Amino acid sequence: MVDRYDVVIAGAGPAGAQCARDLATRDYDVVVLETEPEADFPRQSNKSTAGTFPSMMSSFGIPDDVVMSYTDDVVLESPNSYYESYQPGAVLEFADFKRFLVEDGRENGADYWFDARVSRPILDDDGVIEGVRYNGDEAVYADVVVDATGPAAPIASALGVVDLERKNQAIGIEYEMEGVEMNHPEYADLRRAMMLRLDHDIAPGGYSWIFATGEDTAKVGICYIQNDRHREFADEGQTVDGYLEDWIERDPRFADAERIDGKVHRGSAHIQMPGEMHTDRFLAIGDTVPTIDPLWGEGIHKGMKSARAAAATIDRCLTDSERRVDADSLAVYKRLWHRDVAPRMRARLTLTRLLYLAPNERYDRFMRDLRRTDDNALEKANQGDKTAMAKLLHLDDIPLLAKFAREQFGS
Ligand SMILES: Cc1cc2nc3c(=O)[nH]c(=O)nc-3n(C[C@H](O)[C@H](O)[C@H](O)COP(=O)(O)OP(=O)(O)OC[C@H]3O[C@@H](n4cnc5c(N)ncnc54)[C@H](O)[C@@H]3O)c2cc1C
Repeated sequence: MVDRYDVVIAGAGPAGAQCARDLATRDYDVVVLETEPEADFPRQSNKSTAGTFPSMMSSFGIPDDVVMSYTDDVVLESPNSYYESYQPGAVLEFADFKRFLVEDGRENGADYWFDARVSRPILDDDGVIEGVRYNGDEAVYADVVVDATGPAAPIASALGVVDLERKNQAIGIEYEMEGVEMNHPEYADLRRAMMLRLDHDIAPGGYSWIFATGEDTAKVGICYIQNDRHREFADEGQTVDGYLEDWIERDPRFADAERIDGKVHRGSAHIQMPGEMHTDRFLAIGDTVPTIDPLWGEGIHKGMKSARAAAATIDRCLTDSERRVDADSLAVYKRLWHRDVAPRMRARLTLTRLLYLAPNERYDRFMRDLRRTDDNALEKANQGDKTAMAKLLHLDDIPLLAKFAREQFGS
């Protein structure tokens, strides 16, 4: 008997599992193939700090049980300054969150096959995808295939839909720690905060973070892209683990802190402009596109929004009496993506490159500027608003902008 579904989804991350939830709720036959075994799921894919906001929780019906702690503020730190902005949020237990999405999808009728590593597309005589191979020669067929495997992207790459470039790969690692001094006199009060620190001495060309998970417990991590910016500030031979250890060694907030056993999370994502994200009978979602927000790495909400756009598109196409799932019919997804999932992506990528290009001194001034501008300035700049971005620039940023232009346009 041939295994056949309306939709096959590769990868049970936030994007794949959410897409399955939406499709199962609409009564489609959907199966998710996940490479990890179910018994200890998620293991390697338990990679995320999982800081998120109420907009995500309420849009996708996420229960409180997967929350480790609620936060009130987002704090930006520079080497000698900081800026606090009131923005309630939640730090999730990522593993519980992933398991909730699977369970909820199953309750609505989605099938899950664990220990099923997807390797390549099965093509028909016209070269159009009609299914996927997994675990060697096993096969499953569907009207539409969705690649939600994050940066692995085996199907999207084989179809030539996405090209995730190594030079754009951001790598990150984090420890869960206890005994952290969350309200140290020299720093902002982080007891109910998600803090992101811009400091090339700690994270060359990237940023580091402390996200509160309790009174004296936190997720502590670092990430950067291994590009020219990183190399300019980096120490020869230092690894991302080494940078994190080094920060923990030097920062007084960690003087009495210890790592919690077995609580290390690591992973990567691509920070680049998405190109194509679909073709005949195929959609890419989440970090496979990539959908992650380039500036602060918010990938969960974005990935789930892309999942919902994909599910709505598939629903539309399969409702059509002829079940048209050619590239033209599925193009609705790309329009929804650019309109609702990640609008103004190019402007946000520009802001990202500019931010990580700036030297440490500029970061201190950036904090001062944020304090004196209205609360919405950062929010608007974050949304890719060019006027708001311009407000945060100064005359003496011209050399920085020139350097940026040289890098961008190679002149
Ligand atoms: C260190 C770190 C910290 C982060 N912190 C945050 C944060 O605080 N807030 C936030 O919003 N985002 C954060 N992110 C980003 C966020 O975790 C990702 O954007 C998000 O997980 C992407 O979801 P996804 O479903 O697209 O892909 P993934 O989460 O990568 O899920 C892909 C799934 O596919 C499976 N898979 C892979 N290959 C195959 C295959 N061949 N066959 C079958 N299955 C396969 C994997 O096991 C996994 O379960 C962080 C990321 C990292 C690395």
